[in-house]
Amino acid sequence: MPKELRNYIREVESKSGIKIPEEQRALLAKDLRDNVYTRLEGDALKSHQSAYNSSIRDRLIGEWEKMGGDVKVREWPRYQEPVYKKSGEILKNVGEKFDAHHINPQQMGGKHEWWNVHPLHIEDHLRGVHGKGSILGEIVKEVVGK
Ligand SMILES: [Zn+2]
Repeated sequence: MPKELRNYIREVESKSGIKIPEEQRALLAKDLRDNVYTRLEGDALKSHQSAYNSSIRDRLIGEWEKMGGDVKVREWPRYQEPVYKKSGEILKNVGEKFDAHHINPQQMGGKHEWWNVHPLHIEDHLRGVHGKGSILGEIVKEVVGK
């Protein structure tokens, strides 16, 4: 695994405080080995993103909690405190599920599969993992350059 990818995975884990278990890593690694991913743009990105909605997200979260099996083995985190917008409006209510981040991002055509999602607090998600100068941003930039 390239160093940047390792650092990215580490960043996702440390921001969330949740490890990606070996079994899930293996599925991710297999997918990256078996497929060629390039950055999606325009309509291709739109159509990939439109295949993902809140009901699919909830299904993936359920599968993530069971790690693709029949028994729940972990709990998707939920907001313990409300998150507010700058305007003071509520952005996330107590009890709402954390964001589902696509580890291999949607921008790259990353699949809508349980092993490709990871919970992140919205602040760690948008301003962190997808933020300016993020490791993920650098990785995606490099892929485009090829
Ligand atoms: Zn994300």
